Amino acid sequence: MKIFMVWLLIIVIGNLIANESQTIDFSIMDTSINPGDNFYRYANGKWLNENSLPEGRSRFGFFDIAENRTNNELILMMQEKTEDTLQKLIAEFYTSGMDTIAIKKTGISALAPQLEMINKISDNPDLTRALAYLQLIGINPLFEIHSPKYWEMRGTHYLYLRQTVTTLENSPDTEIIQQLARAITPSSKKYNLYNLRKLQRAFPNIIWEEYFMILQIEDKKTVIAEPDYFEMISDMLAEYSIAEWKAYLEWKLLDSAESLLKASADRELFVMQTISDCLPELTGHLYTQKYFNNETRQQVHNITSNLQSAFRIRINDKDWLSSKTKKLAVQKIDNFTFKIGEPDFNGSDYAELQIDPAGFLQNVFNSRKLHTINRLQNCGSILKNEEWIVPAHSTNAWYSINRNDITLPAAYINQLFDINNDAATSYAQLATAIAHEMTHSLDDMGRRYNADGKSKKWWKKSEIKYFNILSQKLVNQYDSYILIDTLHVNGKNTLGENIADLGGLNIAYDAYKIATAAEESEILNGFSPDQRFFLAYAQKWRDILSDDLKRQYATGYYHAPPEFRTNGNVYNLDAFYDSFSIEKGKPYKKKENRINIW
Ligand SMILES: [Zn+2]
Repeated sequence: MKIFMVWLLIIVIGNLIANESQTIDFSIMDTSINPGDNFYRYANGKWLNENSLPEGRSRFGFFDIAENRTNNELILMMQEKTEDTLQKLIAEFYTSGMDTIAIKKTGISALAPQLEMINKISDNPDLTRALAYLQLIGINPLFEIHSPKYWEMRGTHYLYLRQTVTTLENSPDTEIIQQLARAITPSSKKYNLYNLRKLQRAFPNIIWEEYFMILQIEDKKTVIAEPDYFEMISDMLAEYSIAEWKAYLEWKLLDSAESLLKASADRELFVMQTISDCLPELTGHLYTQKYFNNETRQQVHNITSNLQSAFRIRINDKDWLSSKTKKLAVQKIDNFTFKIGEPDFNGSDYAELQIDPAGFLQNVFNSRKLHTINRLQNCGSILKNEEWIVPAHSTNAWYSINRNDITLPAAYINQLFDINNDAATSYAQLATAIAHEMTHSLDDMGRRYNADGKSKKWWKKSEIKYFNILSQKLVNQYDSYILIDTLHVNGKNTLGENIADLGGLNIAYDAYKIATAAEESEILNGFSPDQRFFLAYAQKWRDILSDDLKRQYATGYYHAPPEFRTNGNVYNLDAFYDSFSIEKGKPYKKKENRINIW
Protein backbone atom coordinates (compact mmCIF):
# COMPACT_ATOMS: atom_id res chain seq x y z
CA MET A 1 0.00 0.00 0.00
CA LYS A 2 2.76 2.37 0.96
CA ILE A 3 4.79 1.52 -2.12
CA PHE A 4 1.69 2.07 -4.24
CA MET A 5 1.21 5.52 -2.67
CA VAL A 6 4.80 6.49 -3.38
CA TRP A 7 4.49 5.39 -7.01
CA LEU A 8 1.24 7.23 -7.35
CA LEU A 9 2.92 10.36 -6.05
CA ILE A 10 5.76 10.03 -8.53
CA ILE A 11 3.33 9.51 -11.39
CA VAL A 12 1.22 12.49 -10.30
CA ILE A 13 4.24 14.77 -9.95
CA GLY A 14 5.68 13.50 -13.22
CA ASN A 15 2.44 14.28 -15.02
CA LEU A 16 2.23 17.63 -13.35
CA ILE A 17 5.59 18.62 -14.73
CA ALA A 18 5.02 17.10 -18.17
CA ASN A 19 1.60 18.70 -18.63
CA GLU A 20 2.58 22.09 -17.41
CA SER A 21 5.67 22.64 -19.49
CA GLN A 22 6.27 26.27 -20.28
CA THR A 23 7.22 25.90 -23.92
CA ILE A 24 4.77 26.56 -26.72
CA ASP A 25 1.93 24.07 -26.81
CA PHE A 26 1.04 23.69 -30.48
CA SER A 27 -1.89 21.44 -29.58
CA ILE A 28 -3.89 24.24 -27.93
CA MET A 29 -3.96 26.48 -31.02
CA ASP A 30 -7.02 26.96 -33.19
CA THR A 31 -5.55 27.11 -36.68
CA SER A 32 -9.02 27.47 -38.21
CA ILE A 33 -8.81 31.08 -37.08
CA ASN A 34 -6.88 33.48 -39.27
CA PRO A 35 -3.94 34.96 -37.27
CA GLY A 36 -4.77 38.28 -38.92
CA ASP A 37 -8.28 38.26 -37.40
CA ASN A 38 -7.65 37.35 -33.76
CA PHE A 39 -4.16 36.25 -32.88
CA TYR A 40 -5.01 35.52 -29.24
CA ARG A 41 -7.68 33.01 -30.33
CA TYR A 42 -5.46 31.61 -33.07
CA ALA A 43 -2.75 30.84 -30.48
CA ASN A 44 -5.05 29.63 -27.68
CA GLY A 45 -8.43 28.83 -29.22
CA LYS A 46 -8.53 25.12 -28.49
CA TRP A 47 -7.44 25.60 -24.90
CA LEU A 48 -10.02 28.35 -24.38
CA ASN A 49 -12.76 26.11 -25.76
CA GLU A 50 -11.77 23.04 -23.78
CA ASN A 51 -11.26 24.63 -20.36
CA SER A 52 -13.69 26.21 -17.97
CA LEU A 53 -13.47 28.10 -14.71
CA PRO A 54 -12.74 25.89 -11.70
CA GLU A 55 -15.43 26.06 -8.98
CA GLY A 56 -15.36 29.32 -7.08
CA ARG A 57 -12.73 30.97 -9.24
CA SER A 58 -13.07 34.16 -11.25
CA ARG A 59 -10.13 33.41 -13.58
CA PHE A 60 -8.04 30.50 -14.77
CA GLY A 61 -5.06 30.61 -17.09
CA PHE A 62 -1.33 30.34 -17.64
CA PHE A 63 -0.48 32.17 -14.43
CA ASP A 64 -2.88 30.09 -12.31
CA ILE A 65 -1.27 26.93 -13.65
CA ALA A 66 2.13 28.44 -12.88
CA GLU A 67 0.95 29.45 -9.40
CA ASN A 68 -0.15 25.87 -8.68
CA ARG A 69 3.25 24.68 -9.80
CA THR A 70 5.00 27.13 -7.44
CA ASN A 71 2.72 26.09 -4.56
CA ASN A 72 3.52 22.43 -5.20
CA GLU A 73 7.23 23.20 -5.29
CA LEU A 74 6.97 25.00 -1.96
CA ILE A 75 5.02 22.12 -0.39
CA LEU A 76 7.58 19.56 -1.64
CA MET A 77 10.39 21.77 -0.32
CA MET A 78 8.76 21.96 3.12
CA GLN A 79 8.25 18.20 3.22
CA GLU A 80 11.90 17.46 2.60
CA LYS A 81 13.67 16.18 5.68
CA THR A 82 17.44 16.72 5.67
CA GLU A 83 20.12 17.34 8.28
CA ASP A 84 20.48 20.98 7.23
CA THR A 85 19.50 23.03 10.30
CA LEU A 86 17.33 25.53 8.44
CA GLN A 87 15.67 22.91 6.26
CA LYS A 88 14.96 20.91 9.42
CA LEU A 89 13.26 23.94 11.03
CA ILE A 90 10.87 24.32 8.09
CA ALA A 91 10.23 20.57 7.77
CA GLU A 92 9.40 20.19 11.46
CA PHE A 93 7.18 23.26 11.35
CA TYR A 94 5.39 21.69 8.37
CA THR A 95 5.05 18.33 10.16
CA SER A 96 3.49 20.09 13.17
CA GLY A 97 0.95 21.77 10.90
CA MET A 98 -0.04 18.54 9.17
CA ASP A 99 -0.48 16.64 12.45
CA THR A 100 -4.14 17.51 12.75
CA ILE A 101 -4.75 14.73 15.28
CA ALA A 102 -2.26 16.26 17.73
CA ILE A 103 -3.61 19.74 16.97
CA LYS A 104 -7.15 18.61 17.72
CA LYS A 105 -6.06 16.81 20.91
CA THR A 106 -4.12 19.78 22.28
CA GLY A 107 -6.77 22.30 21.20
CA ILE A 108 -6.75 25.64 22.93
CA SER A 109 -4.69 24.28 25.82
CA ALA A 110 -1.76 25.31 23.58
CA LEU A 111 -2.78 28.90 24.37
CA ALA A 112 -2.33 28.51 28.14
CA PRO A 113 0.65 30.95 28.46
CA GLN A 114 -1.15 33.66 26.47
CA LEU A 115 -4.44 33.19 28.33
CA GLU A 116 -2.60 33.39 31.63
CA MET A 117 -0.94 36.65 30.60
CA ILE A 118 -4.33 38.15 29.75
CA ASN A 119 -5.81 36.83 32.97
CA LYS A 120 -3.11 38.59 35.02
CA ILE A 121 -3.81 42.07 33.62
CA SER A 122 -4.60 44.39 36.51
CA ASP A 123 -3.89 47.94 35.32
CA ASN A 124 -3.19 50.11 32.27
CA PRO A 125 0.54 49.36 31.95
CA ASP A 126 -0.34 45.63 31.99
CA LEU A 127 -2.84 46.30 29.23
CA THR A 128 -0.18 48.03 27.10
CA ARG A 129 2.19 45.12 27.69
CA ALA A 130 -0.46 42.60 26.63
CA LEU A 131 -1.26 44.62 23.49
CA ALA A 132 2.40 44.75 22.51
CA TYR A 133 2.94 41.08 23.26
CA LEU A 134 -0.07 40.02 21.17
CA GLN A 135 1.25 42.13 18.30
CA LEU A 136 4.58 40.34 18.54
CA ILE A 137 2.84 37.05 17.87
CA GLY A 138 0.86 38.47 14.97
CA ILE A 139 -2.44 39.44 16.62
CA ASN A 140 -3.47 43.10 16.29
CA PRO A 141 -6.27 43.81 18.81
CA LEU A 142 -6.41 47.59 18.17
CA PHE A 143 -3.93 48.56 15.48
CA GLU A 144 -1.48 47.08 12.99
CA ILE A 145 2.28 47.59 12.98
CA HIS A 146 4.34 47.95 9.82
CA SER A 147 7.78 49.03 8.77
CA PRO A 148 7.07 49.61 5.11
CA LYS A 149 9.83 49.27 2.57
CA TYR A 150 7.71 50.38 -0.33
CA TRP A 151 6.69 53.63 1.24
CA GLU A 152 9.72 55.81 0.93
CA MET A 153 9.12 58.86 3.06
CA ARG A 154 12.44 60.66 3.10
CA GLY A 155 14.02 57.32 2.29
CA THR A 156 13.57 56.14 5.88
CA HIS A 157 11.84 53.18 7.49
CA TYR A 158 9.44 54.43 10.12
CA LEU A 159 7.29 52.45 12.46
CA TYR A 160 3.91 52.80 10.81
CA LEU A 161 0.73 52.24 12.82
CA ARG A 162 -2.64 51.77 11.22
CA GLN A 163 -6.16 51.11 12.45
CA THR A 164 -7.29 47.50 12.70
CA VAL A 165 -10.63 47.33 10.93
CA THR A 166 -13.25 45.75 13.19
CA THR A 167 -16.45 44.25 11.83
CA LEU A 168 -19.47 43.03 13.74
CA GLU A 169 -19.66 39.86 11.70
CA ASN A 170 -18.92 36.77 13.84
CA SER A 171 -18.02 39.00 16.79
CA PRO A 172 -19.50 38.82 20.29
CA ASP A 173 -21.84 41.68 21.07
CA THR A 174 -19.77 43.82 23.44
CA GLU A 175 -19.58 47.59 23.77
CA ILE A 176 -15.85 47.64 22.98
CA ILE A 177 -16.36 45.80 19.70
CA GLN A 178 -19.35 47.94 18.78
CA GLN A 179 -17.41 51.13 19.34
CA LEU A 180 -14.38 49.86 17.40
CA ALA A 181 -16.61 48.81 14.52
CA ARG A 182 -18.18 52.29 14.39
CA ALA A 183 -14.78 53.92 13.80
CA ILE A 184 -14.61 54.81 10.13
CA THR A 185 -11.38 54.38 8.22
CA PRO A 186 -10.58 57.68 6.49
CA SER A 187 -10.41 57.35 2.73
CA SER A 188 -7.12 59.18 2.26
CA LYS A 189 -4.40 58.17 4.66
CA LYS A 190 -2.32 60.93 6.11
CA TYR A 191 1.20 60.32 7.27
CA ASN A 192 1.57 62.03 10.65
CA LEU A 193 4.98 61.82 12.28
CA TYR A 194 5.30 61.53 16.07
CA ASN A 195 8.20 61.29 18.50
CA LEU A 196 7.85 59.58 21.88
CA ARG A 197 6.81 62.73 23.77
CA LYS A 198 4.21 63.68 21.21
CA LEU A 199 2.81 60.13 21.19
CA GLN A 200 2.48 60.06 24.97
CA ARG A 201 0.76 63.43 24.98
CA ALA A 202 -1.63 62.65 22.15
CA PHE A 203 -2.59 59.11 23.19
CA PRO A 204 -1.84 59.04 26.93
CA ASN A 205 -3.45 55.74 27.90
CA ILE A 206 -0.99 53.63 25.96
CA ILE A 207 2.32 53.50 27.83
CA TRP A 208 4.49 54.04 24.77
CA GLU A 209 7.92 53.62 26.37
CA GLU A 210 6.80 50.18 27.55
CA TYR A 211 5.29 49.41 24.17
CA PHE A 212 8.53 50.11 22.29
CA MET A 213 10.52 48.10 24.82
CA ILE A 214 8.49 44.94 24.25
CA LEU A 215 8.66 45.27 20.48
CA GLN A 216 12.40 45.92 20.82
CA ILE A 217 12.23 49.11 18.74
CA GLU A 218 15.04 51.58 19.43
CA ASP A 219 14.06 54.45 17.16
CA LYS A 220 10.73 55.68 18.43
CA LYS A 221 9.73 57.98 15.57
CA THR A 222 6.35 56.75 14.44
CA VAL A 223 3.94 57.49 11.64
CA ILE A 224 0.26 57.26 12.46
CA ALA A 225 -2.24 56.95 9.67
CA GLU A 226 -5.40 57.87 11.59
CA PRO A 227 -4.78 60.10 14.67
CA ASP A 228 -8.53 60.40 15.37
CA TYR A 229 -8.82 56.66 15.68
CA PHE A 230 -5.81 56.49 18.02
CA GLU A 231 -7.32 59.24 20.21
CA MET A 232 -10.48 57.17 20.39
CA ILE A 233 -8.73 53.97 21.44
CA SER A 234 -6.62 55.82 24.00
CA ASP A 235 -9.85 57.20 25.54
CA MET A 236 -11.43 53.76 25.39
CA LEU A 237 -8.56 52.22 27.36
CA ALA A 238 -9.48 54.46 30.31
CA GLU A 239 -13.21 54.31 29.78
CA TYR A 240 -13.83 50.55 29.82
CA SER A 241 -13.03 48.37 32.80
CA ILE A 242 -10.02 46.06 32.92
CA ALA A 243 -12.45 43.10 33.00
CA GLU A 244 -14.05 44.24 29.73
CA TRP A 245 -10.62 44.59 28.09
CA LYS A 246 -9.58 41.15 29.32
CA ALA A 247 -12.65 39.62 27.74
CA TYR A 248 -11.92 41.45 24.49
CA LEU A 249 -8.27 40.37 24.30
CA GLU A 250 -9.17 36.79 25.16
CA TRP A 251 -11.68 36.71 22.32
CA LYS A 252 -9.13 38.21 19.88
CA LEU A 253 -6.60 35.55 20.85
CA LEU A 254 -9.03 32.63 20.55
CA ASP A 255 -10.51 33.97 17.34
CA SER A 256 -7.14 34.25 15.58
CA ALA A 257 -5.98 30.86 16.89
CA GLU A 258 -9.16 29.16 15.72
CA SER A 259 -8.35 29.47 12.02
CA LEU A 260 -4.96 27.84 12.63
CA LEU A 261 -6.47 24.96 14.58
CA LYS A 262 -9.24 24.16 12.13
CA ALA A 263 -8.36 21.53 9.55
CA SER A 264 -8.86 23.20 6.20
CA ALA A 265 -9.90 21.40 3.00
CA ASP A 266 -6.47 21.78 1.43
CA ARG A 267 -4.40 21.43 4.57
CA GLU A 268 -1.07 21.12 2.71
CA LEU A 269 -1.60 24.41 0.93
CA PHE A 270 -2.85 26.08 4.12
CA VAL A 271 0.12 24.94 6.19
CA MET A 272 2.59 25.92 3.47
CA GLN A 273 1.07 29.39 3.18
CA THR A 274 0.94 29.86 6.96
CA ILE A 275 4.64 28.98 7.26
CA SER A 276 5.48 31.17 4.29
CA ASP A 277 3.72 34.13 5.99
CA CYS A 278 5.43 33.46 9.32
CA LEU A 279 8.93 32.96 7.90
CA PRO A 280 8.98 34.64 4.47
CA GLU A 281 12.74 35.17 4.16
CA LEU A 282 13.60 31.62 5.22
CA THR A 283 10.94 30.14 2.92
CA GLY A 284 12.29 32.22 0.02
CA HIS A 285 15.87 31.24 0.76
CA LEU A 286 15.17 27.49 0.90
CA TYR A 287 13.02 27.75 -2.22
CA THR A 288 15.88 29.44 -4.09
CA GLN A 289 18.40 26.84 -2.91
CA LYS A 290 16.22 24.04 -4.22
CA TYR A 291 14.75 25.50 -7.39
CA PHE A 292 17.04 28.25 -8.64
CA ASN A 293 20.59 27.69 -9.84
CA ASN A 294 23.49 29.77 -11.04
CA GLU A 295 22.98 28.74 -14.64
CA THR A 296 19.48 30.23 -14.59
CA ARG A 297 20.81 33.33 -12.86
CA GLN A 298 23.47 33.71 -15.56
CA GLN A 299 20.95 33.27 -18.38
CA VAL A 300 18.59 35.84 -16.86
CA HIS A 301 21.54 38.16 -16.53
CA ASN A 302 22.29 37.68 -20.26
CA ILE A 303 18.66 38.43 -21.08
CA THR A 304 18.68 41.66 -19.04
CA SER A 305 21.86 42.87 -20.71
CA ASN A 306 20.45 42.17 -24.20
CA LEU A 307 17.28 44.03 -23.17
CA GLN A 308 19.35 47.02 -22.08
CA SER A 309 21.17 47.02 -25.43
CA ALA A 310 17.90 46.82 -27.36
CA PHE A 311 16.30 49.59 -25.28
CA ARG A 312 19.32 51.88 -25.80
CA ILE A 313 19.13 51.43 -29.57
CA ARG A 314 15.38 52.05 -29.60
CA ILE A 315 15.77 55.28 -27.58
CA ASN A 316 18.48 56.55 -29.90
CA ASP A 317 16.24 55.83 -32.90
CA LYS A 318 13.48 58.18 -31.70
CA ASP A 319 13.44 61.23 -33.93
CA TRP A 320 11.08 63.08 -31.57
CA LEU A 321 13.64 63.13 -28.74
CA SER A 322 16.53 65.62 -28.60
CA SER A 323 20.04 64.22 -28.25
CA LYS A 324 20.22 65.61 -24.68
CA THR A 325 17.04 63.82 -23.60
CA LYS A 326 18.17 60.64 -25.36
CA LYS A 327 21.43 60.76 -23.42
CA LEU A 328 19.61 61.11 -20.08
CA ALA A 329 17.13 58.38 -21.00
CA VAL A 330 19.94 56.00 -21.92
CA GLN A 331 21.61 56.88 -18.61
CA LYS A 332 18.45 55.73 -16.88
CA ILE A 333 18.59 52.41 -18.73
CA ASP A 334 22.31 52.01 -17.91
CA ASN A 335 21.58 52.74 -14.25
CA PHE A 336 19.06 49.93 -13.72
CA THR A 337 19.84 47.56 -10.88
CA PHE A 338 18.47 44.08 -11.51
CA LYS A 339 17.80 42.08 -8.38
CA ILE A 340 17.75 38.49 -9.56
CA GLY A 341 16.81 35.42 -7.49
CA GLU A 342 16.94 36.20 -3.79
CA PRO A 343 18.04 38.97 -1.40
CA ASP A 344 20.97 38.64 1.01
CA PHE A 345 20.09 36.06 3.58
CA ASN A 346 21.29 35.72 7.14
CA GLY A 347 20.82 32.20 8.48
CA SER A 348 21.99 33.17 11.96
CA ASP A 349 18.71 35.12 12.41
CA TYR A 350 17.10 31.73 13.07
CA ALA A 351 19.59 30.43 15.63
CA GLU A 352 17.22 30.98 18.55
CA LEU A 353 13.99 29.95 16.85
CA GLN A 354 12.26 27.12 18.71
CA ILE A 355 10.27 24.76 16.50
CA ASP A 356 8.54 21.75 18.02
CA PRO A 357 7.29 19.08 15.59
CA ALA A 358 4.29 18.61 17.89
CA GLY A 359 3.38 22.25 18.63
CA PHE A 360 1.99 24.01 15.55
CA LEU A 361 0.35 26.94 17.33
CA GLN A 362 3.41 27.69 19.42
CA ASN A 363 5.58 27.39 16.29
CA VAL A 364 3.42 29.98 14.55
CA PHE A 365 3.71 32.34 17.51
CA ASN A 366 7.47 31.81 17.94
CA SER A 367 8.21 32.42 14.29
CA ARG A 368 5.89 35.42 14.00
CA LYS A 369 7.62 36.91 17.02
CA LEU A 370 11.03 36.45 15.40
CA HIS A 371 9.79 37.88 12.11
CA THR A 372 8.11 40.88 13.77
CA ILE A 373 11.22 41.78 15.77
CA ASN A 374 13.43 41.38 12.70
CA ARG A 375 11.30 43.51 10.45
CA LEU A 376 10.90 46.28 13.04
CA GLN A 377 14.62 46.42 13.77
CA ASN A 378 15.26 48.67 10.82
CA CYS A 379 12.85 51.37 12.10
CA GLY A 380 14.64 54.69 11.89
CA SER A 381 17.22 53.47 9.38
CA ILE A 382 17.69 54.72 5.83
CA LEU A 383 16.51 52.34 3.10
CA LYS A 384 19.41 50.40 1.68
CA ASN A 385 19.70 49.74 -2.04
CA GLU A 386 20.16 46.02 -1.56
CA GLU A 387 16.87 45.66 0.35
CA TRP A 388 14.10 43.73 -1.34
CA ILE A 389 10.43 44.52 -0.94
CA VAL A 390 9.34 40.89 -1.42
CA PRO A 391 10.81 37.48 -0.56
CA ALA A 392 12.35 35.21 -3.22
CA HIS A 393 9.31 32.94 -3.59
CA SER A 394 7.02 35.84 -4.63
CA THR A 395 5.55 35.52 -8.07
CA ASN A 396 5.60 39.11 -9.18
CA ALA A 397 8.25 41.46 -10.60
CA TRP A 398 8.63 45.07 -9.44
CA TYR A 399 10.02 48.30 -10.79
CA SER A 400 10.86 50.85 -8.11
CA ILE A 401 10.62 54.36 -9.46
CA ASN A 402 12.66 55.86 -6.60
CA ARG A 403 15.49 53.41 -6.83
CA ASN A 404 15.33 52.71 -10.55
CA ASP A 405 15.66 49.01 -9.83
CA ILE A 406 13.87 45.90 -10.98
CA THR A 407 13.24 42.99 -8.65
CA LEU A 408 12.94 39.54 -10.24
CA PRO A 409 12.33 36.93 -7.51
CA ALA A 410 13.35 33.30 -8.15
CA ALA A 411 9.79 31.95 -8.20
CA TYR A 412 8.68 34.65 -10.63
CA ILE A 413 11.52 33.76 -13.00
CA ASN A 414 10.67 30.04 -12.68
CA GLN A 415 7.08 30.70 -13.71
CA LEU A 416 8.19 32.29 -16.96
CA PHE A 417 11.47 30.63 -17.75
CA ASP A 418 12.97 27.19 -18.13
CA ILE A 419 16.57 26.61 -19.01
CA ASN A 420 15.47 24.04 -21.65
CA ASN A 421 13.17 26.43 -23.52
CA ASP A 422 14.23 27.82 -26.88
CA ALA A 423 15.19 31.49 -27.12
CA ALA A 424 11.89 32.40 -28.82
CA THR A 425 9.93 31.18 -25.78
CA SER A 426 12.31 32.63 -23.19
CA TYR A 427 12.27 36.07 -24.79
CA ALA A 428 8.51 36.00 -25.41
CA GLN A 429 7.62 34.92 -21.89
CA LEU A 430 10.29 36.16 -19.48
CA ALA A 431 12.07 38.93 -21.43
CA THR A 432 8.79 40.70 -22.35
CA ALA A 433 7.93 40.75 -18.63
CA ILE A 434 11.31 42.19 -17.64
CA ALA A 435 11.17 44.71 -20.52
CA HIS A 436 7.65 45.64 -19.33
CA GLU A 437 9.17 46.63 -15.96
CA MET A 438 12.01 48.46 -17.72
CA THR A 439 9.53 50.45 -19.83
CA HIS A 440 7.80 51.63 -16.63
CA SER A 441 10.91 53.77 -16.11
CA LEU A 442 9.84 55.84 -19.12
CA ASP A 443 6.04 55.53 -19.03
CA ASP A 444 3.71 58.43 -18.22
CA MET A 445 4.83 58.35 -14.54
CA GLY A 446 8.39 57.03 -14.84
CA ARG A 447 9.49 59.75 -17.28
CA ARG A 448 9.05 62.30 -14.47
CA TYR A 449 11.99 60.76 -12.56
CA ASN A 450 15.65 60.84 -13.51
CA ALA A 451 18.35 58.14 -13.57
CA ASP A 452 18.80 58.42 -9.79
CA GLY A 453 15.09 58.00 -9.12
CA LYS A 454 14.64 61.68 -8.23
CA SER A 455 11.55 63.57 -9.35
CA LYS A 456 12.93 66.01 -11.91
CA LYS A 457 11.99 67.70 -15.17
CA TRP A 458 14.39 66.52 -17.83
CA TRP A 459 12.20 66.51 -20.94
CA LYS A 460 11.58 69.38 -23.35
CA LYS A 461 8.02 70.69 -23.58
CA SER A 462 7.80 69.66 -27.24
CA GLU A 463 8.89 66.12 -26.33
CA ILE A 464 6.24 65.83 -23.63
CA LYS A 465 3.69 67.08 -26.12
CA TYR A 466 4.63 64.42 -28.66
CA PHE A 467 4.75 61.70 -26.01
CA ASN A 468 1.21 62.71 -24.99
CA ILE A 469 0.01 62.51 -28.59
CA LEU A 470 1.41 58.97 -28.88
CA SER A 471 -0.10 58.05 -25.49
CA GLN A 472 -3.50 59.36 -26.54
CA LYS A 473 -3.43 57.04 -29.56
CA LEU A 474 -2.94 54.12 -27.18
CA VAL A 475 -5.73 55.42 -24.92
CA ASN A 476 -8.07 55.52 -27.92
CA GLN A 477 -7.07 52.03 -29.04
CA TYR A 478 -7.83 50.49 -25.63
CA ASP A 479 -10.99 52.57 -25.15
CA SER A 480 -12.36 50.83 -28.22
CA TYR A 481 -12.11 47.31 -26.74
CA ILE A 482 -15.36 45.82 -25.43
CA LEU A 483 -15.12 43.80 -22.22
CA ILE A 484 -18.71 42.58 -21.99
CA ASP A 485 -22.11 43.95 -23.07
CA THR A 486 -21.50 47.65 -23.60
CA LEU A 487 -18.60 47.96 -21.15
CA HIS A 488 -15.28 49.10 -22.56
CA VAL A 489 -11.68 48.93 -21.32
CA ASN A 490 -10.64 52.22 -19.71
CA GLY A 491 -7.78 53.43 -21.91
CA LYS A 492 -6.75 56.19 -19.54
CA ASN A 493 -6.62 54.05 -16.38
CA THR A 494 -4.62 51.36 -18.14
CA LEU A 495 -2.28 53.69 -20.03
CA GLY A 496 0.87 53.19 -17.94
CA GLU A 497 0.53 49.39 -18.16
CA ASN A 498 -0.27 49.48 -21.87
CA ILE A 499 2.79 51.64 -22.58
CA ALA A 500 4.85 49.12 -20.58
CA ASP A 501 3.31 46.16 -22.46
CA LEU A 502 3.93 47.68 -25.88
CA GLY A 503 7.47 48.75 -25.01
CA GLY A 504 8.05 45.38 -23.35
CA LEU A 505 7.10 43.44 -26.48
CA ASN A 506 9.13 45.69 -28.82
CA ILE A 507 12.25 45.70 -26.65
CA ALA A 508 12.09 41.95 -25.98
CA TYR A 509 11.66 41.22 -29.69
CA ASP A 510 14.74 43.32 -30.54
CA ALA A 511 16.72 41.72 -27.71
CA TYR A 512 15.67 38.31 -29.03
CA LYS A 513 17.08 39.23 -32.42
CA ILE A 514 20.34 40.34 -30.76
CA ALA A 515 20.51 37.08 -28.79
CA THR A 516 19.90 34.85 -31.82
CA ALA A 517 21.76 36.87 -34.48
CA ALA A 518 24.34 34.12 -34.96
CA GLU A 519 21.83 31.26 -34.98
CA GLU A 520 20.32 29.59 -38.00
CA SER A 521 16.59 29.95 -38.27
CA GLU A 522 15.08 26.58 -37.41
CA ILE A 523 11.51 25.59 -38.22
CA LEU A 524 9.73 23.74 -35.40
CA ASN A 525 6.31 22.18 -35.91
CA GLY A 526 6.04 24.26 -39.06
CA PHE A 527 6.67 27.58 -37.29
CA SER A 528 9.63 29.91 -37.75
CA PRO A 529 11.49 31.34 -34.71
CA ASP A 530 9.73 34.71 -35.13
CA GLN A 531 6.32 33.05 -35.34
CA ARG A 532 7.15 31.05 -32.22
CA PHE A 533 8.11 34.24 -30.40
CA PHE A 534 4.64 35.72 -30.98
CA LEU A 535 2.88 32.41 -30.27
CA ALA A 536 4.69 31.96 -26.95
CA TYR A 537 3.76 35.54 -26.06
CA ALA A 538 0.07 34.98 -26.78
CA GLN A 539 0.05 31.65 -24.93
CA LYS A 540 1.39 33.33 -21.78
CA TRP A 541 -1.80 35.39 -21.70
CA ARG A 542 -4.29 32.52 -22.11
CA ASP A 543 -6.90 33.07 -19.47
CA ILE A 544 -10.59 32.45 -18.84
CA LEU A 545 -12.41 35.22 -16.99
CA SER A 546 -15.80 35.25 -15.30
CA ASP A 547 -18.32 37.81 -16.55
CA ASP A 548 -18.13 39.56 -13.20
CA LEU A 549 -14.38 39.93 -13.48
CA LYS A 550 -14.73 41.27 -17.02
CA ARG A 551 -17.02 43.97 -15.64
CA GLN A 552 -14.47 44.83 -12.95
CA TYR A 553 -11.87 45.44 -15.65
CA ALA A 554 -13.90 48.45 -16.77
CA THR A 555 -13.13 50.41 -13.64
CA GLY A 556 -10.94 48.84 -11.01
CA TYR A 557 -7.93 47.56 -12.97
CA TYR A 558 -4.73 49.16 -14.18
CA HIS A 559 -4.08 46.31 -16.59
CA ALA A 560 -6.13 45.50 -19.66
CA PRO A 561 -7.55 41.94 -19.71
CA PRO A 562 -5.24 39.24 -21.14
CA GLU A 563 -6.86 38.99 -24.60
CA PHE A 564 -6.17 42.67 -25.21
CA ARG A 565 -2.73 42.51 -23.63
CA THR A 566 -2.01 40.18 -26.54
CA ASN A 567 -3.94 41.63 -29.47
CA GLY A 568 -3.53 45.23 -28.29
CA ASN A 569 0.21 44.84 -28.70
CA VAL A 570 1.01 42.41 -31.51
CA TYR A 571 -1.04 44.33 -34.10
CA ASN A 572 1.21 47.34 -33.49
CA LEU A 573 4.42 45.50 -34.45
CA ASP A 574 5.74 45.35 -38.04
CA ALA A 575 7.64 42.17 -37.19
CA PHE A 576 4.39 40.44 -36.27
CA TYR A 577 2.75 41.23 -39.63
CA ASP A 578 5.94 40.13 -41.42
CA SER A 579 6.34 36.85 -39.55
CA PHE A 580 2.79 35.66 -40.30
CA SER A 581 2.60 37.44 -43.70
CA ILE A 582 -0.55 39.23 -42.60
CA GLU A 583 -1.96 41.65 -45.14
CA LYS A 584 -5.53 41.93 -44.00
CA GLY A 585 -7.80 41.09 -41.09
CA LYS A 586 -10.16 42.76 -38.63
CA PRO A 587 -7.55 44.38 -36.36
CA TYR A 588 -5.15 45.04 -39.30
CA LYS A 589 -3.45 48.41 -39.02
CA LYS A 590 -1.73 50.16 -41.89
CA LYS A 591 1.95 50.71 -41.21
CA GLU A 592 1.48 54.43 -40.50
CA ASN A 593 -1.26 53.71 -37.94
CA ARG A 594 0.76 51.26 -35.85
CA ILE A 595 1.57 52.79 -32.47
CA ASN A 596 5.15 52.80 -31.35
CA ILE A 597 6.21 54.63 -28.20
CA TRP A 598 9.33 52.85 -26.87
ZN1 LIG B 1 3.39 47.01 -14.99
